[in-house]
Amino acid sequence: MNTAALKANERELIKLIRFFSKRGAQLVASGELSEQHEQLTSACQNLETQLYKHAENRAAILEKRERLEKIIEDKAQCPKCHKADMLKKTGVATNEHGWKSNTYRCRRCNTNFTWNRPNNPWDMVSFLERYIQELEQSLQTAQPEGMQEHIEGAIPQLQDSLFRLRPVLQTSNEEVEALTEKESEMDRLIHQFKNYLLIEKIKLDTYPEE
Ligand SMILES: [Zn+2]
Repeated sequence: MNTAALKANERELIKLIRFFSKRGAQLVASGELSEQHEQLTSACQNLETQLYKHAENRAAILEKRERLEKIIEDKAQCPKCHKADMLKKTGVATNEHGWKSNTYRCRRCNTNFTWNRPNNPWDMVSFLERYIQELEQSLQTAQPEGMQEHIEGAIPQLQDSLFRLRPVLQTSNEEVEALTEKESEMDRLIHQFKNYLLIEKIKLDTYPEE
């Protein structure tokens, strides 16, 4: 496990744990390990294992989340020349619904525009829900020749995307929520244990055992 995946408070605690583990090993070697030291050493080892496991779990969840954030691939086109080859992504804009979309510049036409679809799956769900609703409403009124069939064909496809997207996002949201909860639990534990070890360390410095 690389320590780069650890947060600052976790790294600090690991440092202290190492100190006490090393000391425990020395005491074993010199035959001086008391029951109290033994308990401390094993508590340190348990917590170290727990810390690394937590950090690994966190890294996996966040990595999955990052992949999910990038799942939407724009098939953006310039509104003037209707081509994509000279497009350069310039930023992100938020519309009146709070959905985020990518902005582009077409270097052929020197035109800036915001793509008409969200750039992330969470906003995409809201977008699809609204879009499907609009299409269904439009079927209530008379449509030009061929349009009716076109809309009727498009709705199930959009619904399919929506149904596939929803559970993936829900799982990820639940994972992140559980992680946040676990994170504050661990922070509390780290804080308490660190204080305890610091006090033990001060005692050692104040009253050398030799
Ligand atoms: Zn263009």
